[in-house]
Amino acid sequence: MKLSPVNLMHLAPRCTAKSKRSGFQCKAPAVRGKKVCRMHGARGGAPCGSLHGRYVHGKQTRKAIEARRETRDLIQKALQLLASIEI
Ligand SMILES: [Zn+2]
Repeated sequence: MKLSPVNLMHLAPRCTAKSKRSGFQCKAPAVRGKKVCRMHGARGGAPCGSLHGRYVHGKQTRKAIEARRETRDLIQKALQLLASIEI
């Protein structure tokens, strides 16, 4: 039996997502290299950092937020150390 392109398309890996209404598997063709279809998050949303469409100055990036958190923790530790030394 010769496989036509239509038959090959039906042999594609299927989406493993479960429907929240019916509870059954989605079964739509999965995006190449992914386990789920285009409707169930295979593209993964917008890119991070300066590639994101809403990127302005980088102050709210994960990297900047983490750097501020580390600085704040370091300052807190220094203040606690100073408080323990002063008597
Ligand atoms: Zn799906």
